Amino acid sequence: MTSTSDNDFVLAVHGGAGTILRSKMTPEREAAYHAGLRRALEAGRVVLADGGTALDAVSAAVMALEDEPLFNAGRGAVYTSAGKQEMDAAIMDGRDRSAGAIAGICGPRNPILAARAVMEHSGHVFLIGDSALRFCREQGLAFEEPSYFYTEARWQALQETLAMRRSGAEDQDESRKHGTVGAVARDRNGNLAAATSTGGMTAKSPGRVGDSPVIGAGTWADNETCAVSGTGHGEIFIRYAAGHEIASRLRYAGQSLEEASRAVVVDVLAPAGGSGGVIAVDRTGAVSLPFNCSGMYRGYVRGDGILRTAIYDEAFVERQQD
Ligand code: ASP
Repeated sequence: MTSTSDNDFVLAVHGGAGTILRSKMTPEREAAYHAGLRRALEAGRVVLADGGTALDAVSAAVMALEDEPLFNAGRGAVYTSAGKQEMDAAIMDGRDRSAGAIAGICGPRNPILAARAVMEHSGHVFLIGDSALRFCREQGLAFEEPSYFYTEARWQALQETLAMRRSGAEDQDESRKHGTVGAVARDRNGNLAAATSTGGMTAKSPGRVGDSPVIGAGTWADNETCAVSGTGHGEIFIRYAAGHEIASRLRYAGQSLEEASRAVVVDVLAPAGGSGGVIAVDRTGAVSLPFNCSGMYRGYVRGDGILRTAIYDEAFVERQQD
């Protein structure tokens, strides 16, 4: 996709890859996903249009996606095999590669704010579990009860996955396996940022951490190259250092953002069993949103204010605003 002019901005978001089969998608559901993506784009767009930073824009966009129960992050996160929610999130500032991440927590209303607090106030990059929760309380982050995060659809998905496991059947439904939300942005000053937040994969083992909070795997931002947020089979994204691999191709191999991100998603991750996709922006404002499965909830917006969203391999739906 085309680059932007020097002082234009761009924001891209995703709501997870591996979508509901077209045959099971109703027009109402489809419209709700597009509307959810548009709300996130608009939340970040106003920040960037006001001259705000890429970091603030990706925080705002991911918070909107976490608040939306349709997506697997924050409210609506999936369940572990033990029937608990364990959320992971990360944020990275391309200006100086500062980064913050949390893993295995349930409590903060917006896990991305927990990751940001780690980045800005802990002196560390990554906090996990109970200590991360204690830190979030000290930081005064808003907490919610487990009932706030509960959705019937995610609970049912867990029951179906566990039943399939018991019967030895393999789960072919990508929508049960996948999810995650993320945002990447370039602000008017050419600064890049990335943020990713997830409940992980349905029926994951308690304590399992995926790629989303792992800097260089599911989340990466560096002003000299690009910002990336991934969604898909986290173990493979970690093993192939997906986000950093894309940036390295820009830095050392002179590849364009589109070449690099498509090659990693299609030629590296897919053959290794890493179904999913990424959203990426580079320092010139180019955007790339490749995926190697049936679809990825995704969208982007530039300074023209047109909110472009898509789910499958299809033309973007364009709206000025809802
Ligand atoms: N990447 C996430 C994880 O492995 C899940 C997903 O994006 O579908 O935790």
